[in-house]
Amino acid sequence: MAPRGYHVARGLRPWGRVQTGDQLVARPRFVDEIATLVHASRAGGLTSLCTGLGRSYGDSALNQGQTVIDMSRLDRVLAFDAVNGVLRAEAGLGLSDVITRIVPHGWFLPTTPGTRFVTLGGAVANDVHGKNHGRAGTFGASVRRIGLWRSDRGEVEISPDLTPELFCATVGGLGLTGAILWVEIQLARIGSSRLDVETIPFGNLDQFLQIALESEAGHEHTVAWVDCSSRGPGFGRGVFTRANWRDDGPLTVHTDRRRLTLPVDLPGFALNGLSLAALNALIHARQTTRPRREICHYAQAFYPLDAIGAWNRLYGPRGFFQFQCVTPLGAGMQPVADLLAAISAVGQGSFLVVLKTFGERASPGLLSFPRRGVTLAIDVANRGERTLALLSRLDRIVMAAGGRLYPAKDGRMPPAMFRAGYPELPRFIGQIDPAFSSSFWRRMCHD
Ligand SMILES: Cc1cc2nc3c(=O)[nH]c(=O)nc-3n(C[C@H](O)[C@H](O)[C@H](O)COP(=O)(O)OP(=O)(O)OC[C@H]3O[C@@H](n4cnc5c(N)ncnc54)[C@H](O)[C@@H]3O)c2cc1C
Repeated sequence: MAPRGYHVARGLRPWGRVQTGDQLVARPRFVDEIATLVHASRAGGLTSLCTGLGRSYGDSALNQGQTVIDMSRLDRVLAFDAVNGVLRAEAGLGLSDVITRIVPHGWFLPTTPGTRFVTLGGAVANDVHGKNHGRAGTFGASVRRIGLWRSDRGEVEISPDLTPELFCATVGGLGLTGAILWVEIQLARIGSSRLDVETIPFGNLDQFLQIALESEAGHEHTVAWVDCSSRGPGFGRGVFTRANWRDDGPLTVHTDRRRLTLPVDLPGFALNGLSLAALNALIHARQTTRPRREICHYAQAFYPLDAIGAWNRLYGPRGFFQFQCVTPLGAGMQPVADLLAAISAVGQGSFLVVLKTFGERASPGLLSFPRRGVTLAIDVANRGERTLALLSRLDRIVMAAGGRLYPAKDGRMPPAMFRAGYPELPRFIGQIDPAFSSSFWRRMCHD
């Protein structure tokens, strides 16, 4: 029988839709329900995990066979200082709603992931990064205070100065240090909701790195798309985008209306090697013939995928893996070249291949993913053993380069790779709340 306050949810799937399982889910409306829910779960011999909007790709926001507290109804703004740009809100508030609230006052999130359908709690727990990592660092860098509920201490207020160890374990802590009840962040000033965006085609990976490093001083937001199906002379070609906020207004907010929603899973064959090559060539041709400079609203510049509802169904009923790694800058572009070559050799590429550099700013979390280097993110349709074999090859390339994978995107990295990539793990383990766990964490604890 489900503990009081929970219902059985069968076949839940994360964003990548590969893993599936049953969980007991509660959807509280008030933060003071959390203690009762966690205690009820514990009394039944179960662990808890808080979740946001389920935008993590693998099993880090799953707690299969255990209990999950869906925080998305805890979404109240608790305080907003529009003069100094400080916002405190419950952890279930989505970034989309935060933006709607702050933009008219000339503020924006200091850093944002590639979707606005992420909660404040989820942004903290994965210490998410955006296209402006070089300037702003990760999301955690702008967090001033967090209200955290722990099974052993009740509610505690944590901050970098008062509780440094628990703060840096909670930022990027994958929801394992307790329930994040509220978050207070310092916002960034903007003078317009639009950006000047410049697109620059590049012919190979060395050119990408050159443009990326050159752009760091003069451009806040940088990102590149790479054509992963091109071989021979076109290998590593792509389009680099760099952007800065304008300062001449207006301050208009986005709407959450979608232009397109995928109603059903596309059959897996829709994304076979041939169609991918054609799609990549088309994107490349379109991008390079489009005007080099344009003015874009932030919704278009930061969140292009949000315009397509449920785009994760594009990969068919078996779902997809996202592989996101960072390799140290000292290794240059060779690891990325090896990764792209391995992917292209088996004809299992993707149209969504994103390349970025991370800047010098150290990440605040013990398990934060970003570090100075080059990060590659690629979607790979799940074709069973064949795909797992490819991803293992990619793991070896990343490990040999001294890199690591992003847990928010992961559903299958070997525990040894996690340990090697995250040397602060022993410090982190000391801060875990014993009442909390996740499918990802249990997988990492068992070799
Ligand atoms: C289209 C797309 C683009 C993306 N782009 C980026 C990107 O550019 N950069 C980037 O860094 N990430 C990116 N992501 C990943 C996404 O930002 C993270 O996975 C984010 O953490 C998801 O937040 P969520 O609210 O959906 O939380 P969930 O996915 O539900 O949970 C994420 C983690 O947060 C924990 N958690 C959530 N709420 C709480 C709480 N209140 N208390 C304690 N723990 C909690 C969960 O236990 C879990 O470990 C992208 C995802 C998508 C789908």
